[in-house]
Amino acid sequence: MTANKTSQAILIKIYNSLYNEFGPQNWWPGDTAIEIIVGAILTQNTNWTNVEKALFNLKKARNLSVEALKKIPQSKLARLIKPAGYFNVKAKRLKNFMRFLDNEFAGNLNKMGKMSLPDLRKGLLSVNGIGPETADSILLYVFSKPIFVVDAYTKRFLYRHNIVGQDAEYHAIQDIFMQALHHEVMMFNEFHALIVRLGKEYCKPKPSCQQCPLNKLNYSLVYKCDYCHRYLPALRHSKRVPSFLDCDCRQ
Ligand code: SF4
Repeated sequence: MTANKTSQAILIKIYNSLYNEFGPQNWWPGDTAIEIIVGAILTQNTNWTNVEKALFNLKKARNLSVEALKKIPQSKLARLIKPAGYFNVKAKRLKNFMRFLDNEFAGNLNKMGKMSLPDLRKGLLSVNGIGPETADSILLYVFSKPIFVVDAYTKRFLYRHNIVGQDAEYHAIQDIFMQALHHEVMMFNEFHALIVRLGKEYCKPKPSCQQCPLNKLNYSLVYKCDYCHRYLPALRHSKRVPSFLDCDCRQ
């Protein structure tokens, strides 16, 4: 079996286990394209409950539309999105995005969606304050472009299962999925959403491995680092259970 086929087999096993456990996630939460884009920008460094409060404020003030977001003064926008945290920075980022939409696509999201995946990704990444995770979320969940979204939950569970190292970067993790799986929008959509659910329900900073559907997959409930919870192979010539002293997490 080639490395790619191995990754493919493991990733599909992970996907099926998560899908059987949680079912379809129906992502991304949001009624319109602009709501999803605003949500993707606001969710940086905060949890979704706070984003929902900010989105509610914007909707209530009738400011969750392309036209309204173009016109609203940055200071007023910052006040409305306050619950999402870092509100001054995020208001600036939203305005940066609106300028990009206006300058490059005459304020038309349909026109933006017609651009090829590599070109649009490059364009989004050129907007100050839009990084790979936000850009890929917009590409996948707004424009149905086949790209895999990586987040902190993805890295955490892959690291704990020895699939990536602790220094693995965004694109290296993304490549694992992009190279092993067929580029299907529905699967990428569902897979990322299922990983987020995994991270919220089981693979938390202090994980609940006992109940987790992935606890038989390249993992051991016994041989794991008691600090970062990474799976550690049994020590040769020793009956001692490996501990964080044998793990690379604190080096
Ligand atoms: S088995 Fe444990 S480490 Fe693995 S994904 Fe589940 S909670 Fe995380």
